[in-house]
Amino acid sequence: MPQELQSFIEGLESLARDCQPRAGQARSLKELEELRIEFLGRKGRLAAGMTNLRALSNEDKPVAGKKANEVKSLLTQLLDARQVELERAQTSEGLSRFDPTLPGRKPWAGSLHPVTLVMDEICDVFTGLGFEVVSGPEVENDWHNFEALNMPPDHPARDMQDTLYISERILLRTHTSGLQVRTMGDRKPPVAAVAPGRVYRRDSDLTHTPMFHQIEGFLADKNVSMADLRGTLATFVRQLFGSDVSVRFRPSFFPFTEPSAEVDISCFNCGGKGEKDGATCRVCKGTGWVEILGCGMIDPNVFKSVGYDPEEIQGFAFGLGVERVAMLKYGIGDLRMFFENDIRFLEQFC
Ligand SMILES: [Zn+2]
Repeated sequence: MPQELQSFIEGLESLARDCQPRAGQARSLKELEELRIEFLGRKGRLAAGMTNLRALSNEDKPVAGKKANEVKSLLTQLLDARQVELERAQTSEGLSRFDPTLPGRKPWAGSLHPVTLVMDEICDVFTGLGFEVVSGPEVENDWHNFEALNMPPDHPARDMQDTLYISERILLRTHTSGLQVRTMGDRKPPVAAVAPGRVYRRDSDLTHTPMFHQIEGFLADKNVSMADLRGTLATFVRQLFGSDVSVRFRPSFFPFTEPSAEVDISCFNCGGKGEKDGATCRVCKGTGWVEILGCGMIDPNVFKSVGYDPEEIQGFAFGLGVERVAMLKYGIGDLRMFFENDIRFLEQFC
């Protein structure tokens, strides 16, 4: 056999010897594909060996060509066989990871927002006392929001509320107190109702949001006194915060009530002591009292604006911030958490 032909054939055989163990050791389909390119690719080692064919004599070329084809099909078989093995292993590995006995995924159930929970709970207490629940428009006119509540256009108390106006006489309600006017205007006493809802103010910082929730409550009838107000509110806070909570009234001012008071409850966290577990109480900041709502006896001017005779009818009203009650009740430190819609926060109230 001529020297050139022999070295051509030996070159081809060394390719096959080299490829066989490496194909058997390929760990992944990617590795195998790299081998295929190295040996059989257009610029691979087999193609490089074939360039030596030109140096052979015409009678040796058919022999060399036949050998080259044999080696090519051998290499293809080696690589294909390994490919089948690798693919089979991949499938069975996938099946072994699949556990048909695992339970299916449960659909997520929604939960009520803490503000809704507290609002429902407060309304439940008052409906139990005979109050009805009423609602009204969030876009309100100046008369219902201010004027009928003893705040004429030049009244300084209007500056206490940063109002969002839609037009000169139309606004986003700044409190739920306007529901007193709407409800009493529609009917004759006795009237007892609570009005939960959203209110809006031009105010945004750590402790204020432009939208928040209030609950207004009021009662109008004959022979109503401050004692009725006190008894009603004491019953309410005891149902909400516990039977051993006590109530104190501090004089205050609201244009639509006279006299007016702010109501504190004894701290439900420390029992009014001002400290818990040797540290200053985080809820009452050591004072033993927590401010909870504003209230008072309905001003005679409010009764006049709804057509009641203030000589004959008396009544009380109170209003509270729902977020504030929810923060106290659930120990939430940051008002903004109510509005960030973080699912980790919200799902704690399921
Ligand atoms: Zn306390």
